[in-house]
Order: sequence, then structure tokens, then C-alpha cells
Amino acid sequence: MRHIAIIGSGPAGCYLADQLLRLIPDASIDLLEKLPVPFGLIRYGVAPDHQNTKSVARVFDRMLSRDRVSFFGNVEVGRDVRLEEVRSLYDAVVLATGAAGDRRLGIPGEDLRGVVGSGAFVAWYNGHPHSEAPVVDGVRSAVVIGNGNVALDVARILAKGADELAGSDLSAEVTGWLSSQPLETVHIVGRRGPADAKFTDHELEELGTLQRARPLVTDPEGLSGDTPVVKVLRTLADAAIRPAPVSVNFDFHLAPTAFLGDDKLRAVQFRSHDGTVQEIPAQLAVTCIGYETLPCCTAAPANGIFANRDGKVDERLYVVGWAKRGPSGTIPTNRVEAQQLAQKMTEEIDDGQRPGGAGLHKLLEQRRVSWVDYAGWRRIDAAELSGAGANRCRKKISRTDDLLDVASTGQLKPA
Ligand code: NAP
Repeated sequence: MRHIAIIGSGPAGCYLADQLLRLIPDASIDLLEKLPVPFGLIRYGVAPDHQNTKSVARVFDRMLSRDRVSFFGNVEVGRDVRLEEVRSLYDAVVLATGAAGDRRLGIPGEDLRGVVGSGAFVAWYNGHPHSEAPVVDGVRSAVVIGNGNVALDVARILAKGADELAGSDLSAEVTGWLSSQPLETVHIVGRRGPADAKFTDHELEELGTLQRARPLVTDPEGLSGDTPVVKVLRTLADAAIRPAPVSVNFDFHLAPTAFLGDDKLRAVQFRSHDGTVQEIPAQLAVTCIGYETLPCCTAAPANGIFANRDGKVDERLYVVGWAKRGPSGTIPTNRVEAQQLAQKMTEEIDDGQRPGGAGLHKLLEQRRVSWVDYAGWRRIDAAELSGAGANRCRKKISRTDDLLDVASTGQLKPA
């Protein structure tokens, strides 16, 4: 057998495992995941009201159920096992750890209460076990910095009413926080012009379909160019103004220069392209300006990714997904990339008579690390689906201890 360990079970790791299974008939693949549950960005990054996008998890689930695949959830490389140990046990190791760190703007006030990175905010509304609720209340105005699809996701979740979020997997705590804010305005602010925005037109159009909110282009005269995004913005700007409790404003050519406030956010300061300074009052600011890869044990990223040549980091060490190329592309981008890397690995990896998963098993048992296997994940999944109730598609378990309990017993311990 050729033993391969993939560190990270998000879309990049899962697509790669799938491709390796197809291309290498004698491959045995183990996915090591620091959380007790698989699927990474699918579960904790994709918007909770975009369940169609999350449905790719079903394909990944089938892959995890295959004989030649094992899931090792709740096993963190760097905490439970060293990267060097994993490399000594497997013929090849792949870093598929994504980009879990929020990039920072590096401007004054970034640590004020009410300023949060999109990674942290999205993780919170998606029920990530390591996330924290926003420490603000009374949000009348929210500023979303960035003109990418994450900015649209964040603005949409803030702007939607409770009825519009029904059917998602948002928790009662999250919908409770969202619906208790006296929200009037969400500003989506880009440092460049509308023609340079990185939104995709389809995601942008969706903002025109919301019930509680209406989009508003602050300077419709400034909509120059004819990119698909500019065309959608023109349509949104031309639409008859309808009364709605929340307005989603598109502001362009404003570069953030400071977050203002004493201990909590009062306003965001911007410099316009004509040099003028502008303040937008806000109680919440979410920076949606991209992500960076975090270290994985002794593997240290440089410039936000693990340095690599076409996915190769070192002998028998590879990288894939956002950890390889940075935070760009959609979920299916990972499929294409996985095909390429799997092909390369097929040609380069030999059977080195290493122990693979049997060796990892032994090591984890010696260290008394309790891991979640595929059967444990199935128990979590079943418990979450059966607990969903009427208004949501899944009741996510968001505490690590609870996930571990349910993985081993199938039951949530009474509080
Ligand atoms: P993104 O598309 O790269 O957008 C990042 C935005 O942040 C850009 O508008 C960028 O402006 C801005 N920015 C960066 N540094 C800044 C600074 N110092 N000051 C002000 N603005 C700054 O990244 P993303 O929105 O995080 O999305 C990541 C990837 O996931 C993308 O490929 C995205 O399409 C994908 N995604 C897809 C979906 C979907 O398909 N539904 C949903 C979410 C995410 P500049 O252009 O000027 O650099």
C-alpha cells in the first residue's frame, strides 16, 4: 500500500482524497482533522443560507465511507502529533489546512470592540467550536470592508430577516443576536471602483431579492464600465425604491484609514480617492479582506501560504487548496487543483513500507488521544439532523466537548 496522510478535511483535502482514490488503486488515505467533524470551509465558511453549496458535503461523506479512507477527527498536528512523526509514518503527507487567519488592515483601532475579521465572524455564525459571539449590541449601522463574495455573504446574513433565514442551519443563539440588533444600514465599502469589485454577478444579484433589505448604490453616476458586476449594480440602482427597514449601501473608492471609538467602535474613517476624509458611523465593522494560512506544527507559511512548487513543499510533503495558492476561487476550483496534484503524486510517491494509519493509531493510543472516526462523525451528523426542528435544516453542535460526547455515544449529555 502507499500510505498518504492529508492534514485538513475541508474541500481541498476531500477533493484530493477523492482523486487519489481514483488514480492510485493501492492508496490508503487518512484525513487528520483538528476539529471533531469533517468538511472545514463547507461546514464553517460557506454561508448558512447557501445550503446548495454545502450539499457537496454529501459527495465528501461518501468518499470518507470508503474502505481505503480513514477519518481522524479531533487530531491536531502540532498538539497531538508532530508533523515530523506523521511524515515518518506515511509515504506522503499533504497540507490541506486552508487559510484560517484573518488578514489585518494594520490601521489604528483594529482591536476596538465591534471590529471583527470575516473569518471570525463567519465562523461564529456557522457554529465553529473555537469561535466567539460579537461583543457588541445595539448595532444600527454595520460597515463591511471589502468587495469580494465574503463581503456579500456577511452583508446578506446581517440584512436578512429571521423569516428569510429559516431553513438554514443558523443556531438559535445566532438568529437571536441578529434579530435583536436595531439594524438600519449595512455599508459594503470597496477601496477601488465598481468595475474592480471581485463580487460575482450571481451573488450580487441575490442582494436585490432580499425582503427585509434593499440595495442602494451611494453614487449611481459613478457606475462606469460594463463588467457583469457593474451591470448588476446598475440594475440594482435603477430598481424602483421600495420601503424596507434595512438599506444595503454600496460605497466605492473609500480606503479604510482608522476605526474610531474609545473602547468600542463609533465610526470607520476612510480616505476617498480625491483625498477627502470621510467617516461612516458604525457599531460593527467586519473586515472581509482575505485570509492567510496559519502554521501547521513546524511548517511555517510565508506570505500567507506554504511555499511550494506546483504543490510540492519538500520530498514527500505536498500542499493543496488555499494553503497552496491563497484564498481565491470557488469550491469547484479545488477539484481541478486536486486532479493536478493527485496526478503528480501518482508519479512521485512510492510504497516505502511505512505503517501509515496503523502507526498513527498506535501513537494516538499511547498518548491517550481520543479521536473521532467516521462512525463517530455519522453519529454527530445523525444527531444534528434529527435535532433540527421545524425552522432549520440542522441543529449544529458547536462545543467541542459536546461533539466528542455525541461522537462516542450518539447522545448529547443533559446539561
Ligand atoms: P476576495 O474576493 O479576494 O476579496 C477581498 C476584498 O478585500 C477585495 O475587494 C480587496 O480589494 C479587499 N481588500 C484587500 N485588502 C484591502 C485593504 N487593505 N483595504 C481595503 N480593502 C482591501 O476575497 P474574499 O471575499 O475573502 O473571498 C475569498 C474567495 O472565496 C474568493 O475567491 C471568493 O470568490 C470565494 N467565495 C465565493 C463565494 C461564492 O461563490 N458564493 C462565497 C464566499 C467566498 P482589492 O480588489 O482592491 O484588492
